[in-house]
Amino acid sequence: MLLEAQQRLKEHFGYDHFRSGQKDILENIFAGNNTMGVMPTGGGKSICYQIPSLLFKGVTLVISPLISLMKDQVDELQEVGIEATYINSSLQYEDVNERINGIRQGKYKLVYIAPERLESGQFLAMLRTLPVSLLAIDEAHCLSQWGHDFRPSYLKIPELIHQLNGTPTVLALTATATPEVTKDISTSLHVADHHVVQTGFARENLSFHVIKGIDKDSYIKDYIQQNKTSAGIIYAATRKEVDKLHQQLSRVGVAVGKYHGGMSAEERQHMQEAFVYDNTRVMVATNAFGMGINKSNVRFVIHAQMPRNIESYYQEAGRAGRDGEPSECLLLFSPQDIRIQQFLIDQSLMEEERKEQEYGKLQAMVNYCHTENCLQSYILHYFGDNEAAPCGQCSECVDNRETVDVTREAQMVFSCIKRMNERFGKTMVAQVLVGSANKKVKDFSLHTLSTYGLMKDRTQKDVSQFIDYLTASQFLKMSGGAYPVLQLTEHAVPVLKGETPVTKKEIRQPVSVDTKTH
Ligand code: ADP
Ligand code: ZN
Repeated sequence: MLLEAQQRLKEHFGYDHFRSGQKDILENIFAGNNTMGVMPTGGGKSICYQIPSLLFKGVTLVISPLISLMKDQVDELQEVGIEATYINSSLQYEDVNERINGIRQGKYKLVYIAPERLESGQFLAMLRTLPVSLLAIDEAHCLSQWGHDFRPSYLKIPELIHQLNGTPTVLALTATATPEVTKDISTSLHVADHHVVQTGFARENLSFHVIKGIDKDSYIKDYIQQNKTSAGIIYAATRKEVDKLHQQLSRVGVAVGKYHGGMSAEERQHMQEAFVYDNTRVMVATNAFGMGINKSNVRFVIHAQMPRNIESYYQEAGRAGRDGEPSECLLLFSPQDIRIQQFLIDQSLMEEERKEQEYGKLQAMVNYCHTENCLQSYILHYFGDNEAAPCGQCSECVDNRETVDVTREAQMVFSCIKRMNERFGKTMVAQVLVGSANKKVKDFSLHTLSTYGLMKDRTQKDVSQFIDYLTASQFLKMSGGAYPVLQLTEHAVPVLKGETPVTKKEIRQPVSVDTKTH
């Protein structure tokens, strides 16, 4: 069957070979095994069900949350000679009926359906009458409550599998899944561990950068004006921020569009098309923009604020460079970004346990902004790849500042946290270390500790940043939700004993007139 699949690949898409992950997936589903594919954006997931749909006897159902794109997807398939159709809430009753008849008569082998449709008993009853060979689930992370984009209607999918006529083979596909999310999905869809196909997550053409301590607005403006011809996306955390950036860039003559949930559907559609068809060069948007957008020549993705977790970040940043050409992913960090995200979690209607989880994920995102190791490796590690080599092109890999020994300072911080019984947050720890006269320090009698004022020659901000670094380096951890307390991890113990050194890149000295006269 694989040979036939390869002929179809050539015939419809013009490609000579399957990529290795695609081949593994196809072999699995041709053998009738439930399969899960975890591949990066641009990895070629859709071909993994489009080609089999041509070879299987029955219908291939594709569950996809991207309702607004179904029509485009289906049109594109028809252009390459694959008869496909879709059923979602945008259709009239008669249209649905007509399509269902078409499916029955074998006119369509590939059918996209919106997950919401699974909540209709009538629709399910109709599905039961169809011969389904393959059930493909796109964006399968929406099935996991631990994922970052959980959709309740996805929970209907496991039931659906049992109700269908005969037992179809199941193929779950996603670009973003931590090991826990993968486990969650494979368990509920009965995919055996060895049928989980995971291709490298690394996107070699992307270079990641974290930029701190800048004026974001002017940085963005300069960046856009320096990259005069490249197309890119700027993500901002709020609608207000999107409007502001959009206005600033329009004012300096950039062909810029915007996209957020506060705009009408027509406006958004219009902005999206203008960007996809290269009529605007830059898109400023909230995270509402981008899922399924197939624009391959995006050269940069700038995050004006830190997003809420690594999953979202990698998905959004990953919209750069789908054509494989070198592209940049910039995250402009300021401590204020953390508070925005904490606020959003705090205000959400999630259960307490879930909130704790989200705070944990947020901390991993914050650590990304403070690490001095390879950023790409950090992300890959987060997704369970522990062997990732340094990428050689991210802002940390190319940072050639001198490495200095900071073991003594680290020991000071650790012993101070210990003396404070690991019950206080970062600000208090920093205040005690610099010997602050703050009232709260006195109220808790922290000024009597032997570590009080140990780092009095440094500013509180300096010490805070050093604590961020120690946290990102896994010597410290933050626990406890919205008001986290600092605690030591097991990695701090050998440092305190003097067995392991701690190193850090030298602080960048700001260039000022003063230093030049020396
Ligand atoms: P994903 O859904 O994983 O983001 P797509 O299915 O959209 O990825 O595929 C990304 C791009 O790679 C598309 O332009 C697609 O045509 C191309 N592609 C997929 N499979 C192959 C292949 N075997 N050889 C060459 N190009 C491929
Ligand atoms: Zn790197």
